Amino acid sequence: MKPSQTFDPSLHAPGSPAAEGRCSYHADQGGGGQCSGEAVVSFEDDDGQWQSGCGLALEDLVERGEIEPLGQGA
Ligand SMILES: [Zn+2]
Repeated sequence: MKPSQTFDPSLHAPGSPAAEGRCSYHADQGGGGQCSGEAVVSFEDDDGQWQSGCGLALEDLVERGEIEPLGQGA
């Protein structure tokens, strides 16, 4: 289970898509057709780098057991 929280632009490198409020999860995958592009969650990836995800990414990651649904735990 990786750390995750409500999207916070300050966690992300300045100038990156995530810092601008965009979904880096799908950007890394070449852009998802259903991606809204709007980040709602921040989470750490396998390399310990903070990534951002849209609602679709959040559902995907929770479904795979990689992160906890927002609002739980803590
Ligand atoms: Zn997305």
